[in-house]
Amino acid sequence: MSDDAIRIEGLRKTYAGGKQALKGIDLNVPQGSIFGLLGPNGAGKSTLINILAGLVVKTAGKVSIWGWDQDRNPRQSRASIGVMPQELNLDPFFTPRGALEVQAGLYGVPKRDRRTEEILELVGLEDKAEAYARTLSGGMRRRLLLGKALVHHPHILVLDEPTAGVDIELRQMLWRNVRRLNRERGMTIILTTHYLEEAEEMCDEIAIINHGEVAARDSTANLLGNIDAKTLVITPETMPDTLPEAPGIKAEKRDGGLIALSYRARETTAEDVLGLVRAHGISLRDVRTEQADLEDVFLELTRSRPAA
Ligand code: ADP
Ligand code: MG
Repeated sequence: MSDDAIRIEGLRKTYAGGKQALKGIDLNVPQGSIFGLLGPNGAGKSTLINILAGLVVKTAGKVSIWGWDQDRNPRQSRASIGVMPQELNLDPFFTPRGALEVQAGLYGVPKRDRRTEEILELVGLEDKAEAYARTLSGGMRRRLLLGKALVHHPHILVLDEPTAGVDIELRQMLWRNVRRLNRERGMTIILTTHYLEEAEEMCDEIAIINHGEVAARDSTANLLGNIDAKTLVITPETMPDTLPEAPGIKAEKRDGGLIALSYRARETTAEDVLGLVRAHGISLRDVRTEQADLEDVFLELTRSRPAA
């Protein structure tokens, strides 16, 4: 087979009612990579993932999973992929152990090949193995969904916004586990996230989806290294009468006695910005950098790059 874990050609989805959620997606995901799908709400990420999972029927196009054509070899392609969906769709009357066993049964995993205990441990639910799903916290339910995606030992693991609304501890645990699956078992990982920092930290390659199309696709370094707009937010001891100003540095008052200074990292350094602030006689109570948000990134990318 080719070196791609996933190959998508001309993928379209129009929902009943006429919404065109995917407008011709071409995408390949290399084997062994951690691949990020980024995009604003409504971009079509979950539609794409649910088509891979076999939960949504595509309107047109070709999808092959681990070399298996989804239409010609549905069983093999389904066996190659495990999906942790965005929605928490758990049967409240199952316990984690029960839910994993049922899922393994659905995928035809023979009893001797089941690794229920290992999976419970991996997702940190060994203490809750016999608790009813309805008594689990949101974070625990998410971990159980991750466990369910792993029961049939798939080559590819897909995570749809696994950390949305999840506390930082669980987020870190999830990422540790995902990295381990990638490094130790060579599992290909596809994830969607809203958090740029997370994508930057986790992903080898990124595709940006917007309005049902691939707006950009590149290595994480190429894609996010391109994003040049930075903001330094300072809390002055006292708000000055006039704001500091210099070519390439734009200052703006913010609520709460803050000043936001925006600049381009290629032309100006944070040191330059702080130097300007000091030269303006401002003493600092606090300084922080601000992450570019996803919307800014889209604007920047769609301005500076041709659509892929
Ligand atoms: P994302 O995951 O990027 O937020 P989705 O794939 O969930 O995006 O949604 C893409 C578009 O398709 C949105 O406009 C959404 O409202 C629409 N959509 C999603 N699911 C359905 C559905 N079952 N029926 C009709 N429209 C849908
Ligand atoms: Mg979604």
